[in-house]
Amino acid sequence: MPPQSGKDAHRVQLLDLTRPELAELLGQWGEPRYRADQLWRWLYRDLEADFTAMSNLPQPLRARLVAEASCQPLALVEELVSRDRRTRKALFRLADGETVETVLMLYEQRQTVCISTQVGCAIGCPFCATGRSGFVRNLTPGEIVAQVLHYARRLREEAQEEATSPQVPSSLSNVVVMGMGEPLANYEATWQALETLNDGQGFALGARHMTLSTAGLVPGIERMSQEKLQVGLAVSLHAPTDRLRNRLVPLNRRYPLAELMAACRRYVQRTGRRVTFEYALLQGINDSDEQAEQLARLLHGLLCHVNLIPVNPVQGSPYQPSSRPRAESFRHILQRAGIAATVRLRRGLDIEAGCGQLRQRRAIGN
Ligand code: SAH
Ligand code: SF4
Repeated sequence: MPPQSGKDAHRVQLLDLTRPELAELLGQWGEPRYRADQLWRWLYRDLEADFTAMSNLPQPLRARLVAEASCQPLALVEELVSRDRRTRKALFRLADGETVETVLMLYEQRQTVCISTQVGCAIGCPFCATGRSGFVRNLTPGEIVAQVLHYARRLREEAQEEATSPQVPSSLSNVVVMGMGEPLANYEATWQALETLNDGQGFALGARHMTLSTAGLVPGIERMSQEKLQVGLAVSLHAPTDRLRNRLVPLNRRYPLAELMAACRRYVQRTGRRVTFEYALLQGINDSDEQAEQLARLLHGLLCHVNLIPVNPVQGSPYQPSSRPRAESFRHILQRAGIAATVRLRRGLDIEAGCGQLRQRRAIGN
């Protein structure tokens, strides 16, 4: 649990509770069993944050919730919207004053929210704004879930406002765990949050609409591959050799490529799902034709897809994105070797939508 301050310190954070835990709490308050289901639906299906509006709960229970509970662990500090309005980024303050970021991306067919799982990150990839700022603490399940609920509410409100000429879809279709932090280093809270979002009585988001990205924490990947909830796996590879990956993703010193690849192969075997590999293209560092050939050999025979992402330059870091032709040449080599690969457009550059960048900018005050 994070340290809490201010008026919420004594309150029970409802979003931190599983459905059985919520039932236990209401049982202790002397409520009948079905109340927990009603409250769960208010929170996750109706997206209601105001206890007084929960009309099928008896008045005394609503009053007790107002006095003793909270379902809003995040306070919006700032929101940036890209010029095309299709990427938005929220900075939230937590009860203890720390801040995290959440990004919404609207595509043709999908509405994806990208959520954070830690304040900062201990892994320290040198091209990543979050990694450069160090690790502060894990998020709680409620702090993770609340990021999704924020944008789900927002989309629903906007769709209602534009009811006459609907331009904005009314709900989220995908959740990607690709914001600040290493989700598998905060496994319990992250998994509880995903299970809460998946619960059919509430938010009801299918596991196929969730993807978790890891820097390669091998025991976490093993654990994920045995879960009932089959969330998609993305692995941040960024380099085809241990020598280079030790530098770009320092976790590689603990879990080198041979172990990581073996874990990915087991994941595919057990789940039947393909793995997505993320590869940030850093000009002159990891983007040569020879490195593309090495990557093709590394991934040979593995059910996977490679996302090539020209790096988003962050303040104080020397890394620059590869040019478009370089990225295409890299992709072409993978493709020729039978490995599906896509060069991803960089979204929301004008709002610093790369992970951790807004928080970093505010911390240094410019
Ligand atoms: N810690 C996890 C998830 C969060 S980072 C992980 O590393 O996978 C999500 C993705 O953004 C990762 O692939 C990460 O390597 C990438 N990333 C971080 N900083 C970036 C930058 N400046 N440009 C492009 N991609 C970046
Ligand atoms: Fe942490 Fe991921 Fe950033 Fe690396 S890329 S520092 S693992 S958040």
